[in-house]
Amino acid sequence: MDRRKCLIAWLNDAYAMEQGLIPILKNHAKDADEHPDVRARIEMHIEETRSQAERLKSCLELLGEKPSAMKSGMASFFGALQAPMTGMSSDELVKNCLTDYATENFEIACYRALILAAQELGEPAIAETCTAILAEEQQMADWLAQQLPTAVGEHLAKAAA
Ligand code: MG
Ligand code: FE
Repeated sequence: MDRRKCLIAWLNDAYAMEQGLIPILKNHAKDADEHPDVRARIEMHIEETRSQAERLKSCLELLGEKPSAMKSGMASFFGALQAPMTGMSSDELVKNCLTDYATENFEIACYRALILAAQELGEPAIAETCTAILAEEQQMADWLAQQLPTAVGEHLAKAAA
């Protein structure tokens, strides 16, 4: 693959990934209905995710491209990740925390790869945009890691009651 085509393909993958994550995050916000702080943090990340997709679109436009119809395996990747978690289960907030943490770390890896590729190809504006997005994903991953003990503790307390 031509280097420029590679950067375009990865930006497209990231765009499809962000679009695909919005419905999953919406479900997780709904699941956290009884935990307003959790819900609010997820809703904030939905807004960040929408903005990330817009910023990726701008990166593609810088290269004279538009987001192409999704042909990446990203949607099925997330589908597979979420599939065992559908349906109500009493530990769904713990399960959501686990899959969301995995997802954020996957996103972090994608943006690290994109930053390296953009730098290598002499596209500093794209590298800068991806660095800003990476920081948002890192903050969400850190929050999820911090949230896990609370989610586990609450679930075990409920199970004991
Ligand atoms: Mg994202
Ligand atoms: Fe994210």
